[in-house]
Amino acid sequence: MNSALAIDGGAPVRKILLPYGRQTIDEHDIQSVVEVLRSDWLTTGPKVREFEQAFARALGAGEAVAVSSGTAALHAAMHALGVGPGDEVIVSALTFAASANCVVYQGATPVFADVDSRTLLIDPKDVKAKFTPRTRAVIAVDYAGQPCDYDALREITGRHDLALVADACHSLGASYQGRPVGTLADLNVFSLHPVKAMTTGEGGMITTESFDSAYRMRCFRNHGVTSDHCQREQRGSWLYDMVELGHNYRLSDIQCALGLSQLSKVSEFVARRRAIARRYDEICSRLIGVEPLDVRSGVESAYHLYVVRLEQDFLSTDRGRVFAALRAEGIGVNVHYLPVYLHRFYRERFGTGPGLCPRAEAAYDAILSLPIFPAMSDQDVEDVIQALCKVVNHYAIDTRSAAVAGAR
Ligand SMILES: *Cc1c(COP(=O)(O)O)cnc(C)c1O
Repeated sequence: MNSALAIDGGAPVRKILLPYGRQTIDEHDIQSVVEVLRSDWLTTGPKVREFEQAFARALGAGEAVAVSSGTAALHAAMHALGVGPGDEVIVSALTFAASANCVVYQGATPVFADVDSRTLLIDPKDVKAKFTPRTRAVIAVDYAGQPCDYDALREITGRHDLALVADACHSLGASYQGRPVGTLADLNVFSLHPVKAMTTGEGGMITTESFDSAYRMRCFRNHGVTSDHCQREQRGSWLYDMVELGHNYRLSDIQCALGLSQLSKVSEFVARRRAIARRYDEICSRLIGVEPLDVRSGVESAYHLYVVRLEQDFLSTDRGRVFAALRAEGIGVNVHYLPVYLHRFYRERFGTGPGLCPRAEAAYDAILSLPIFPAMSDQDVEDVIQALCKVVNHYAIDTRSAAVAGAR
């Protein structure tokens, strides 16, 4: 049964597509939101501060600043660092476009650093190579949920007096040498989008030990005004001063109530992701043609993504076909990401193009993200494994002839 691939007209493993990620919402989450809807404050009320404090406490961070998205969080971080025209910021090449767009918002230039082929994390050696007198900051992306090599990055940023920003949108709940993500860089950025470790619908957070940075970001999220509506209400004053140009990047009390409820379950969510990852690891170790990413020692990944690389030497087809075949089987695989500088906007604005970061480009041709999220049932996990084995075995080259071909 199930021998012909669904893409060739056979029966699919699943009739309804399993997504690669999705939220987990329970009755407590719903009740928390309903309570706010019945209260006096829908936005800029008491839940914002409560959520920020709980988030900071959970990560052992000094300050947490809530904003309307991970993208807004990255933008606020660039603003707090004073990044502006003429500046360069070194960014990992293999990431979501927002990691680099925040630099462009500020009129500065993103400079792309290549990744390590085994982990797909920013390579500190390439950061060193891309450093110029104009470099102001480094944005390290904790790709797939694994913290970057922060000791090596700190060494470089410390020597040149640069700011280190962690795009930790994948790594909430992960740790690096026993220290939780959220305390590893000067500014640590999180997304609270539904596919991430926890959600507020849309939302973002920045953690930092710098009270000054936190203050600047709180002004920035509120038009550049130094007080918010709630504070003025308490003072009984109408007067406010807009001291610089900001945005409306506020997170509402409705969202913060959901965030508080979700935050209490993050470690449970991450534990389930790790259990699924262990099961995938087991299968990948036996399946010729796919290889998981390396997870470095001393690091606990949060597994926002479970990324495998296809081993082209052992397969008679390419990633595009394997992707389509798995989709046809009802498995919502995905690809994270096209190197940012290959997007048309970057090519046109900054003159970037193929060849800039060869390891990121090679990885892009080979990677697939398998579905992973806490609400996946054991049966869902087994469906992914069944479909992966079915498709990969179908396209597997006889390993003996492959070995002969390799020897020529
Ligand atoms: C999700 C994500 C973002 C952006 O977060 P939003 O909340 O969607 O704005 C930024 N960087 C990375 C690496 C992400 O995965």
